[in-house]
Formats: sequence, C-alpha cells, structure tokens
Amino acid sequence: MRKYNLGIDIGGTSIKIGLFSLDNFLLDIWKIPTNKASYGDKILFEIKELIAEKIAINEIRAIGIGVPGPVAKNMVFSCVNLGWGEKDVVKELKEILEDDEIIIKVANDANVAAAGEIYQGVAKGYINAFMVTLGTGIGGGVIIDGKVVDGINGVAGEIGHTHIDDLFNLNCNCGKIGCLETVASATGIVRLAKVYLNNSPLPSPLRRYPDFSAKKVIDYAKDEDPLAMEIFDKAMEYLARVLAKVTYIINPDIFIIGGGVSNAGNFVIERIEQYYYPLVVPFIKKTNFAIATLGNNAGIYGACYLVK
Ligand SMILES: [Zn+2]
Repeated sequence: MRKYNLGIDIGGTSIKIGLFSLDNFLLDIWKIPTNKASYGDKILFEIKELIAEKIAINEIRAIGIGVPGPVAKNMVFSCVNLGWGEKDVVKELKEILEDDEIIIKVANDANVAAAGEIYQGVAKGYINAFMVTLGTGIGGGVIIDGKVVDGINGVAGEIGHTHIDDLFNLNCNCGKIGCLETVASATGIVRLAKVYLNNSPLPSPLRRYPDFSAKKVIDYAKDEDPLAMEIFDKAMEYLARVLAKVTYIINPDIFIIGGGVSNAGNFVIERIEQYYYPLVVPFIKKTNFAIATLGNNAGIYGACYLVK
C-alpha cells in the first residue's frame, strides 16, 4: 500500500531524505554523504539503497527532488557540484526503483527551498513569493500562484548572476564579471571586504583576522565598526537594487531571505529596506521582507510540496 511521500534534497556534500505521511506530515529524516565519484553516477543508486533499508519501495506514492542546478520541466540541465550533465532523473530513478507508478518531480534547489517556505515556513499562506538564498553563492526561487516557476532554461529567479556591479569587477564562477553573487553572497561580502580593507586607511577590527568570514563582517557592522558597516551596506545595496527590479517584474507578496547571511536576522532586512524603498515607486509603502525559518530543512519540505 502506498503510504509515504518522500522529499529529497540532493546537495553537493550531503543528501537528505524526508519521509512524509500522505497528509505530508514529516515522519523521519535520513542523511547520507553525496558520492560524487564517477560523475555522480552512484547518487541515485545510493538513494535507492537508503530508502530500501527503511521502507518498502512499493509503499512510496511520490518523490519530490531538489537538485543544485538548472531544471526545466523535470529535466536536469547540469549540476556541476554533483558531476551531472544533462540528466533525466525522473526516468533513471524510476528504472532504479523498478516501480513505474511512483510520481517523481524534480526542481532546482533554490526554487524548492522557496516552495518549502511557502508550504511550511515563514511564507505559509502566501501564493506569490520570491526567495533569495545568500550563501556561498546566491540562489533565487520564484513561486507564482503557488507553483514553482523554472523557466525554459531553468534559470528563472537566478538573480545571483544578474550583472549589478561595475565598480569592483570581481570574477564570478559563471565566467562573467560583476554578478550580484560576487558582491552580496557570503563569499562576496568577504571579497568586497578585502577590497575595502586594501583601499581604506580606516582602522578596523577585521584587520586582525587574515581569514575572516561574512559573519565577522556582519558582527562588526552590528557593533558599528565604520568600515564593516560600509562593506555590509554596500553588499545589501546591491541586493536591494536587484530586488527592486524583481518587484517590477513579479511584485511578490513576500520576499524571503535565506542562507547563512540571513542568520543576522532583522539587521539584514533593515539594511535591504534602507536601499530598496528609494528604488521603487513611492506608493509602495510596505513590502514584506522575511527571514526564512526552515533553514536546512526547506529543501525536504519543498521537495515534498512538489508532489503533495
Ligand atoms: Zn555569475
């Protein structure tokens, strides 16, 4: 009897599987490291092994999957972090599970995280949302009318690669220069800080650390260190400029801010708002900005949402 849904979050370092009841109550979470050997060829097999250790395959009604790369219409284009090129995950997993009746859906992890927040997180009750994840890179997810929007090339919402900076000209992993990710992700904030520290005569406690994190920059900005404040404000100004553009395209009910940088809470939202409102039409008096609440579990909840 089919009595479970699974929400699977395939990340570059670990794979997390959420076991849900048919009324989508989270029953258990299982985790394994991501085996990236031979171009990630073993990943789907190891997922099957893990599931089969815990439940019978024919007890599964549906599986939702989030992957770290562009996906459109359930087709994965590439996941560099997993070693995957173009991959029909739905077809392959059905074959591996030897069960054609299981419903399987795949989406990009940032979109899946946004779905998770709408489903069980801070955006519960909203149907239009934009989520930005400020981590090593910057991910973006779009939900319209409660549906995940992936776009024809699977890059809908991927604001991390919007060109926004012509001042620092930092190289991005995507091969371009001046992407939002280079100046406003956790990594970007550190890179920006290093440029500021090199170019400014101001003293700063940051100079004490040869290898500091974005958290250090934010902590010192909170403590009102002038240079740290200037650096973090600049990063959030860039982000706000892009979010203002998003407003004119989809005008979401809520902007959800997730990823490591969002741990700074309202401090982040205040900085974004300071730069956002002057950039949108004056009659927009209040935009909903909220910090994501599901953290690392957004992926499994969102993946379950895909197939609920
Ligand atoms: Zn880029």
